[in-house]
Amino acid sequence: MALKNKLAFLAAEQTHVGQLRDVNQDASLITDDIFAVADGMGGHAAGDIAAEIAVDALANAIRMASVDDLVVAVKDANKAIVKRATAEPELKGMGTTVVALAVFVDGDAQHLALINVGDSRGYRFSNGVISQLTDDHSLVADLVRDGMLRPDQAEQHPQRNVITRALGIDTDVQVDSWIHDPKVGDRYLLCSDGLFNEVKESEIAKVMSKFAHPEDAVDELVDRANAAGGRDNITVVIVDVVDPKAKEPAKVRASKPSDGAEDDAAVDDPTAETKADVSPVTAPEPAPAPTAESGGFLSRILGRKKGTNRDGAK
Ligand code: MN
Repeated sequence: MALKNKLAFLAAEQTHVGQLRDVNQDASLITDDIFAVADGMGGHAAGDIAAEIAVDALANAIRMASVDDLVVAVKDANKAIVKRATAEPELKGMGTTVVALAVFVDGDAQHLALINVGDSRGYRFSNGVISQLTDDHSLVADLVRDGMLRPDQAEQHPQRNVITRALGIDTDVQVDSWIHDPKVGDRYLLCSDGLFNEVKESEIAKVMSKFAHPEDAVDELVDRANAAGGRDNITVVIVDVVDPKAKEPAKVRASKPSDGAEDDAAVDDPTAETKADVSPVTAPEPAPAPTAESGGFLSRILGRKKGTNRDGAK
């Protein structure tokens, strides 16, 4: 079956260790049709390995014909991390977040599958408006959802890097997934928390608007995160949806002049995304509760709070 209007995807990635950390445990991936950011955690080299296993598993995923295929690839990556950590005791406790975007074809149209586990994020920048597409699996995000914290308090919270879901913790993992329809001019951003904990969303949007070429935009975002403190590893992937007939990236405008009619659609188009609930029939098992002696990595992982059910919450 032939695609009626085949779109192209122009992507760029940048990563930086930041100003305080000794090692960069983030990883990123760009292929023709799959893009990802993983933020690894664990002592010594373990976090790097977990993040690398995650992006390698996605890069090697054979079948990508639906959002479910991307979810399966992430679940396979999770199993691979658990298996490796079991086989090599020095890697015990390693884990990683992952946020990924994959292009797949269904019928005569291209779609984008987006998945997330952990507190890396996916955003879309469309018609000058930035929207966060993913939900953080973090302690502070839970507290904000429960009305215990305001978003501005969450940004400064000392435990803002404690996450509630990650790959590598258990043999199964719950994966959030969405389907988006790519539109020429739309720009997708995948990033680790080292970006958005340093650079405000409004400032990210300004950079997305100012720098037409994704290479320039990823560099500028990483520079700004470092300038703001660079307290964590910083990783940014930008994917632009482009008309393949427009060879020059400079022709891709991140911010199109508004024609009015599409303004609302950019922010809240009910047809643009379908939240696919891909959780297994069985209830997800809670992540292990943090223990006093768990130290570095597990201090960033928090078990699901008893009585808290975020799965049904939007
Ligand atoms: Mn991080």
